[in-house]
Amino acid sequence: MKISKYPSAVPAVPWGSRENFRCICTLASRYPFLRTAVAGRSAMGRALMSLSFGAGERAGIFTAAHHANEWITAPALLRHVEALAARCAAGEAPARSLYARTRLVFLPLVNPDGADLVNGTLAEGPQLDRAREIAAAYPAVPFPSGWKANIAGTDLNLQYPAGWEEAKRIKFAQGWTGPAPRDFVGPAPLRARESRALCRLTERLRPRAALALHTQGEVIYWQYRGYAPPGAQALAAGMAAASGYALDTVPDESANAGYKDWVIDALDAPAFTMECGLGESPLPLAQLEAISAAVEGACAALEAYIATA
Ligand SMILES: [Zn+2]
Repeated sequence: MKISKYPSAVPAVPWGSRENFRCICTLASRYPFLRTAVAGRSAMGRALMSLSFGAGERAGIFTAAHHANEWITAPALLRHVEALAARCAAGEAPARSLYARTRLVFLPLVNPDGADLVNGTLAEGPQLDRAREIAAAYPAVPFPSGWKANIAGTDLNLQYPAGWEEAKRIKFAQGWTGPAPRDFVGPAPLRARESRALCRLTERLRPRAALALHTQGEVIYWQYRGYAPPGAQALAAGMAAASGYALDTVPDESANAGYKDWVIDALDAPAFTMECGLGESPLPLAQLEAISAAVEGACAALEAYIATA
């Protein structure tokens, strides 16, 4: 059933800072009960914009596109926000109840500068020159399509203070010892403004659960070093069933310093990495529909948990 009288505010186009800004503004004007906010700034000073849904106490955080060439997760998450807002505006009881009980914060583009770099929309200037220099030192990584890091060459999902030293040891041993298109942990945890902003937002909200969308693999990671908070395993199983994705264990080399890892470690709250779609990032827009459907299912399961946790 199509609920909204409008065409989707979330076009199937390569996603960068402009598309994200426009889409968030459109959604907030169509659905005035959605609130926009700025969680912080990127390395280049761009606003890290969020949309919030709900007037309740029980918080949840939903993020996408920590990694530049995984930008397809941003419109997928925004399509979920749009669907949720449309159901609420149409007066559907479950959406109204969710609105009353929860406060859901969506940060769809954690890495706006990087997404613009990958999509070729970043303006010429010193930051782009520097990114080209960094990329030239890693000729095996295609440029810009293989770029995952922020514009300064720090991997934003290796910046969180949960096993960061271990992540550093592993990534340095693999040769990622300085600014790079991917896998550089940074000089210290939370030095990258984007990761720091999300960390502060999370500390402020104390979410009952959190989600980070990535590509690719059609799997959901739900543990940190073999540990999962109470309730996380059943919730993960529900998300897997609702999305059609499988539950999996993170490979050891990627098992530290991610957002999910830190939320589990620091807040003891269920947190998940969802690896959307299949193929080589950036995934083609032809996968947006299927990814959006999987994200819709997983988010709905997560929201039902947050509303009652
Ligand atoms: Zn990723």
